[in-house]
Amino acid sequence: MSATVLVCGSVFDGVSESLTGPAEILVKDNRIASIGRSVERPPGARVIDLSARTVTPGFIDTHVHLTMDAANLAHQTLESSASKALKGLSLAREYMSYGFTTLRDLGSVDPEWPTVDLRNAINAGFVEGPRLIVAAHILSAGAGHGDLRGFYSPRWNLPVSAIADDSGSIKALVRREHTFGSDWIKTSNTGGYFSAGDDPARVTWFDDEIEALTSTARQLGMPVAVHTGAAEGCKQAIRFGARSLEHAYLIDSEGLQMAAKVGSYVVPTMQMTQEDLHELQAGTLPCQAVWKFRRDNEKILASQKLLAASPVKIAYGTDCGMFPFSHGILEFQAMVKAGLSPVRALKTATSVAAGLLGRDDLGMLAPGKLADIVAMPDNPIEDISATAKVDFVMKDGIVYRGPGQVGVLRK
Ligand SMILES: [Zn+2]
Repeated sequence: MSATVLVCGSVFDGVSESLTGPAEILVKDNRIASIGRSVERPPGARVIDLSARTVTPGFIDTHVHLTMDAANLAHQTLESSASKALKGLSLAREYMSYGFTTLRDLGSVDPEWPTVDLRNAINAGFVEGPRLIVAAHILSAGAGHGDLRGFYSPRWNLPVSAIADDSGSIKALVRREHTFGSDWIKTSNTGGYFSAGDDPARVTWFDDEIEALTSTARQLGMPVAVHTGAAEGCKQAIRFGARSLEHAYLIDSEGLQMAAKVGSYVVPTMQMTQEDLHELQAGTLPCQAVWKFRRDNEKILASQKLLAASPVKIAYGTDCGMFPFSHGILEFQAMVKAGLSPVRALKTATSVAAGLLGRDDLGMLAPGKLADIVAMPDNPIEDISATAKVDFVMKDGIVYRGPGQVGVLRK
């Protein structure tokens, strides 16, 4: 058994409304054994001084794409699955150094299963990285957000998209995800901003089609995450049992009431919107995104304000891969800018994200929880930008960074 004692200046436990501390945390192997003003120090325990830091649960990003490079997507799609998995591993390790100890990856554009392989390699201890929960592919209608065949000339007919247009084929796609190791089902029920040939303001699944998808997922015990934009798309996703709405760009107050009533989570990817706005103003947005974003950007910001004012469960998710992983930590600041309180923003990446993932062993500092713990100088409730200064990272009881160390610590 290994034992570590963390001497903490102050603590955000993932659920409280304020910081507590000073406090000590005893970690035995990969779990928190006790937490209090002072804890037992077993013989040989390693003591780590975090007395000048705020200590929080490891952050959870519930929307990333480790194997998608938006700036280069059409070409990258032609790379081997192994190449994508290895690059994804490097990004995952870099991202963990910012404090993200658990990631939900919501899809690769690959006929094989690079994110499943990456998750399995990390779980088996072959490589070190954050805990991964994956939806391998983005299931989509033809001409929907996940239909990427238009990247290439029709003669190539490359197997780059997981698309289906009748309920039997949709069920087969869901079952295939289960067979080959997806934890979640990811689908899109509206177009997107950066995909060519579709429109986020239009719904792309008919009701009987999304019903085929979600009922098959439910039968297999798989939760469903839905990329959605249009207000009607948000409502369709909620009506058919989506556990999380990704982006929910144009959600309206009726949709928010429905989400609050049934307990759907919303993952609003606000930093990405900020960056898209910046690119729109700078004239660097890709042409297929310009007309859509110009039409919708004020509506998106208004929806984010409605969301922030609602009681809906908001989970931290960035869409990193669509923009640089080094910017993912800025979602905390974007959320506060949109109207969330700093403590609610911290919960989105800890206890609320763990709730979305159905993982009651994560997202909280309490006895019996997995020892995913990060620390930062300064107080993130006084100034949320402290979250961008994480310099101590423990996952599963193993210290990967710090305190004060630059980069990933081990190996
Ligand atoms: Zn995404």
